[in-house]
Amino acid sequence: MVGETFFTAIGCMDGRCQEVVDEFGRAHFGALYPDTITEAGLVGILAKNPSDEFLDGLKEKIMISVQRHHSKGIVIDGHSECAGNPVDETTHKENVRNAVKVISEMIDNAVPVLGVYLSRHPMDQTQWQVAEIYPSL
Ligand SMILES: [Zn+2]
Repeated sequence: MVGETFFTAIGCMDGRCQEVVDEFGRAHFGALYPDTITEAGLVGILAKNPSDEFLDGLKEKIMISVQRHHSKGIVIDGHSECAGNPVDETTHKENVRNAVKVISEMIDNAVPVLGVYLSRHPMDQTQWQVAEIYPSL
């Protein structure tokens, strides 16, 4: 259908993340619908030498989004207070950088891949804010 554009949201299953990441992806990629791929603490799993089985399953889902839905790009999230990846913020952000690298290579850079980190808004603890995580130089 005309106007049914997609991007790909990859990250934690934590329900507090989804809307924030969806909003970011819509704005950043100019696409309407997120294809959402989640695990508990996904960027932490990717940092811990995951099995080929896990990586193959992940790639299969990503390629459906990229090839069948012509995804305009991928956003990968990590977040504070993560039950699935309970590491400090610096490590978690490094996990996001690593995940961007792993997934970019996995798909041969077919689409742009961005990393983000979500945390509680300092002025309103009920809201979550998103910050882009840039690659290390
Ligand atoms: Zn989490």
